[in-house]
Amino acid sequence: MPELPEVETVRRTLTGLIVGKKIQSVTVSLPRIVQRPDDIRQFEMELAGHVIQDVGRRGKFLRIIMDGLVLVSHLRMEGRYGVYRNDEPVEKHTHVIFHFTDGTELRYKDVRQFGTMHLFLPGEEFNNKPLAKLGLEPLDESFSPETFRKAIARRTTKIKPALLNQEYVVGLGNIYVDESLFRAGIHPELPANSLDDEQLERLYEAILATLTEAVEAGGASIKSYVNGQGEMGMFQQALRVYGRQGEPCLNCGQPVEKTVVGGRGTHFCPNCQPPGGGKTGPARREASSGRTAKPPKLAANASSRSKSGNGVSA
Ligand SMILES: [Zn+2]
Repeated sequence: MPELPEVETVRRTLTGLIVGKKIQSVTVSLPRIVQRPDDIRQFEMELAGHVIQDVGRRGKFLRIIMDGLVLVSHLRMEGRYGVYRNDEPVEKHTHVIFHFTDGTELRYKDVRQFGTMHLFLPGEEFNNKPLAKLGLEPLDESFSPETFRKAIARRTTKIKPALLNQEYVVGLGNIYVDESLFRAGIHPELPANSLDDEQLERLYEAILATLTEAVEAGGASIKSYVNGQGEMGMFQQALRVYGRQGEPCLNCGQPVEKTVVGGRGTHFCPNCQPPGGGKTGPARREASSGRTAKPPKLAANASSRSKSGNGVSA
């Protein structure tokens, strides 16, 4: 499933491809993709005549902004957008086509058919499903150590499912949660409310650095993901723990482990992310991002601040 960086890459690419185009008509061939309005014909008719002004993003949702309408689109597992000339053959699994007045088309293809589209009046989208209850936007200026701490610090769930919960922080999925926890040196099964301020700040910095680097990687490699027809695919940056079970940890050389946390496959280094909530984190993290984390402190009093039942000092 695409996470924030992939959706952000799609957003940027799509912006260049469709902004300024006027919708002549819309064809929906798989009604269940369209969640709002209920009536597919109404969806098709309402969109006709509107000009695309911008493409936004909220969490993993795209917001296709028009004059007087906003289309909220979630790609889910395998949804893809592509821009084609209208005389090009329509590929299998193309479920929605936006026909533009300039002879091109925006086509939505989704093999798994899990993607969704919701149509709103401008501003209305933020007060309704699926955007209404979404949490902090990590690449927004409002995402700060303070707002992050407020969103996470009192949660009684394990930290990994807390980070996956889109009502607390948006955009993080299985891959970038594992990567962020590794960078912060935090075990995925620690209760969220057992993390002290220093750990939360480290995690905040790790999330920011992980997502920022991934977005930059997407931007840098964008050409290889847009084919001649303008179809966008997903990319994956070089990952440090995700999918590397059994391989040596890039920090300490011990094998990366895979376990299940909250029903999700979870990758971590048992040495760099001790189950007792060790305070060091992976050592010598390279300063590759503009907003890097502070060097981990080897706080002597760290364990005394742990409120966790299993907070044995490592
Ligand atoms: Zn390690």
